[in-house]
Amino acid sequence: MTDKSNRTPSLVTRVTQALHFVEAETGAVIPSIQPTATYARDESYEVRKPYWYRRDGSQTTAQAEAVISEMEGAAESLLFASGMSACTAVIEHLPTGSHVVVPKVMYHGVLAQIQGYAAKGRINVSYYTAGNLEELAAAVEPGQTTLVWVETPNNPNWEVTDIAAAAEIAHAAGAKLLTDCTGTPPNLTRALDFGADISFHSATKYLNGHSDVTAGVLSVRETGQFWEDIYMVRKLQGTVLHSFDAWLLIRGMRTLFLRVERSCQNAMAVAKHFDGHPQIEAVLYPGLPSDPGHAVAKAQTGGQFGGMMSIIVKGTEQTAIDVTRFCEVFYPATSLGGVESLIEHRKTVSGEGFPVHPRLLRLSIGIEDVNDLIYDLEQALSRATS
Ligand SMILES: *Cc1c(COP(=O)(O)O)cnc(C)c1O
Repeated sequence: MTDKSNRTPSLVTRVTQALHFVEAETGAVIPSIQPTATYARDESYEVRKPYWYRRDGSQTTAQAEAVISEMEGAAESLLFASGMSACTAVIEHLPTGSHVVVPKVMYHGVLAQIQGYAAKGRINVSYYTAGNLEELAAAVEPGQTTLVWVETPNNPNWEVTDIAAAAEIAHAAGAKLLTDCTGTPPNLTRALDFGADISFHSATKYLNGHSDVTAGVLSVRETGQFWEDIYMVRKLQGTVLHSFDAWLLIRGMRTLFLRVERSCQNAMAVAKHFDGHPQIEAVLYPGLPSDPGHAVAKAQTGGQFGGMMSIIVKGTEQTAIDVTRFCEVFYPATSLGGVESLIEHRKTVSGEGFPVHPRLLRLSIGIEDVNDLIYDLEQALSRATS
């Protein structure tokens, strides 16, 4: 027998094999689910490490976190019961009076949460237009700002922000940079490599990929007191991801690379087909060379651009709503990043007061046969406009 070779398999292989998991006792190549809520103390009545109660985490959740850390190039990752509870833990851990800088348009739940904390006087907020680095730099106050929030690509217009440039601005002011790259999971965009301090993903979306789990994850390049504080919020609020959901997430991530590659190919084909279409006013997709974010998106996604786009249909707001009603392959549902394609009239969902184009339809392009997707949109458009 020779010693093991020194060759490390590629990231695709490591993630597909969930880090080459083999259970010591049984040889099982799939981890077991550890659903226990509590852990017995040992013979000396000592607490066993690392868990003694479910709110600390569980072995199954830690296995899912290890796979994500590997993809992110992170020191550590923490999984939460939803993307929102992960974002809330970050906001909650900030000292009272902290100054944060966020985009004017971003994921509406996070924005509502940040505005809620601001309304109670817990934090101060300044805003910038997504993708606009001059406005971002002007909103940051050196020595005052503690957190800069970047969502890229930015939901639902898919503006692209240069993460490395945003990190430089944040760091020069003594602030941390948090990125929400839910639209381009870590196999496309490793935000920590571009200088982000905290990388957030709604794992409900691409990471799980099957629309059967809600989960959120935070990953960091370096741990420290702030990370301890965020962990304590998760522990004391009890927002750790459940073991069953962590197990489904591990299963979902095994096919992440394959799923996302197909989504990206399908999205590019759909975008090209409807760009310049007589019934479409605009296709918002960073993969189109005419898109203002194209060059930065290309560098930040390895040229794959992701599976998310929006289209602005010609006609009236009702025309746009009718397109979603007439689709037979796309589901008229919220969320994104699953294997099935979804279409959504964003204004109906975000509500009055949220700045979104009234004729904008958000498309989450799945992994189906792309000809079916294109045909479905074509027939829905022609029924909606006739
Ligand atoms: C879905 C989403 C969230 C919130 O995550 P949940 O898992 O739904 O709680 C945050 N940011 C973005 C960009 C999202 O798409």
